[in-house]
Amino acid sequence: MIKLNQLWNNVLIEVQSKVTTLTYDVYISNLEPVGVYNDTLILLAQSPALKRIVNEHHKELLKQATSTVFPTITEVKIVLEAELKDIDKLEKEVDIPVSKENFFEDIEQSSFVENYTFDNFIVGKSNQHAAAVCKAVAEVPGGKYNPLFIHSGVGLGKTHLLHAIGNYVKKNHPEMKTIYTTSEKFTNELIEAVRSGTKDPDATKKFRNKYRSVDLLMIDDIQFLANTEVTLEEFFHTFNDLYMANKQIVICSDRPPKEINIEERLRTRFAMGVISSINPPDFETRIAILQKKAINFHAQVSMDVLKIIADRCKTNVREMEGLLNRIISQAMLVGGDYNDMSVVYQALDDYGDDQQEILSIEKIVDATCEYFRVSKEAMVGKKKNKGIAYPRQIAMYLARELLTVPLESIGEYFGGRHHTTIMYARDIISDQIKTNSNTASQVKDIKDKILKR
Ligand code: ADP
Ligand code: MG
Repeated sequence: MIKLNQLWNNVLIEVQSKVTTLTYDVYISNLEPVGVYNDTLILLAQSPALKRIVNEHHKELLKQATSTVFPTITEVKIVLEAELKDIDKLEKEVDIPVSKENFFEDIEQSSFVENYTFDNFIVGKSNQHAAAVCKAVAEVPGGKYNPLFIHSGVGLGKTHLLHAIGNYVKKNHPEMKTIYTTSEKFTNELIEAVRSGTKDPDATKKFRNKYRSVDLLMIDDIQFLANTEVTLEEFFHTFNDLYMANKQIVICSDRPPKEINIEERLRTRFAMGVISSINPPDFETRIAILQKKAINFHAQVSMDVLKIIADRCKTNVREMEGLLNRIISQAMLVGGDYNDMSVVYQALDDYGDDQQEILSIEKIVDATCEYFRVSKEAMVGKKKNKGIAYPRQIAMYLARELLTVPLESIGEYFGGRHHTTIMYARDIISDQIKTNSNTASQVKDIKDKILKR
């Protein structure tokens, strides 16, 4: 049996890789699963506008995504609150076969976000070099620009460009095998393969075959590649095999190779080909990006509104998109017009509040657990071995640094520890940050994740 929320989460993961953030945040994530009725998944929309738009533009995709993950569910129905009573016997737990259970299923090809193309990528001074080399790589993979390394702050278009390469190659060189992955996914798959090695001796072989037989390998957010011997070793050999065979490698990161905390032999390899960086876009480029987003979204947003958004977000395009989507959502919620300034300001106000709310001790602990791959129970539990004590101290340090809650409350959260324990953790980690570059970069990585930078 699978719970409805679990089912929906799986569908969301599937959908997320196929739509833009804007569509996902404004429409898809605002649907709520209410049950399964025969072979139909019923989703609740909060407003008639949302129901209409999803029915018109996104229903096919939802249907496909649902049946990909759960083959027995072949229909999706969007309903309003008032229509719920007409449907009797909604099932909240469903006993259905799940099709996606193994990691190696997508072995052949990655799929790419349809909208992340070169055509939809606005080029300005800040990104023209990166856009040009990506285009060149897409035209001739394994040519002059290999490996290609792109770095920039968060939300400046790296992932978009990787998908653009993917979309282009898929269309123009359909015979090529192309994989896009994140360093986290790479790490997780490897761990999974090694772990299942006892049951399935071929697991690591399959993993190797998957990555070493591609024509184009794109790895996103390489700074999160686990700093463990197994992962580094595997990645090193994958890299070498592909490189020696003139296969294209594209790597993205939030910092240049020389600042990545990784063994030297890998760092040198990253820097072997072309390195390109993306800077925050200037005002004109920001406006052009917003115009493009609005058009793709079938929304006629006025220049006044676009200027307000472009003024507000200067260093992160994703944030700019987030604001645009807030304004459109807000208008939909109150049944108003997104060019109406009172709607716009209301949306901007809420935006500020949310940023505050985002940070909680929970979030810090979750991010730290994920980073070190330890469980939350262990984190707030009593064990004191080094494997858990160190991540715990880092989480305590971050809680102290990022939140304004009293030491006592942090202590309370970590299984009722005394406030001096929190102070001790804070002191010890802040000392280590100064003396140990490994700790410094771990703390930075986790912090970046928490603050989504
Ligand atoms: P990064 O991977 O660098 O963190 P993303 O590629 O995820 O950033 O970009 C964040 C969002 O901003 C995406 O929705 C992307 O389409 C958009 N974006 C960034 N730069 C541009 C651009 N030059 N033109 C159009 N959209 C852009
Ligand atoms: Mg990215």
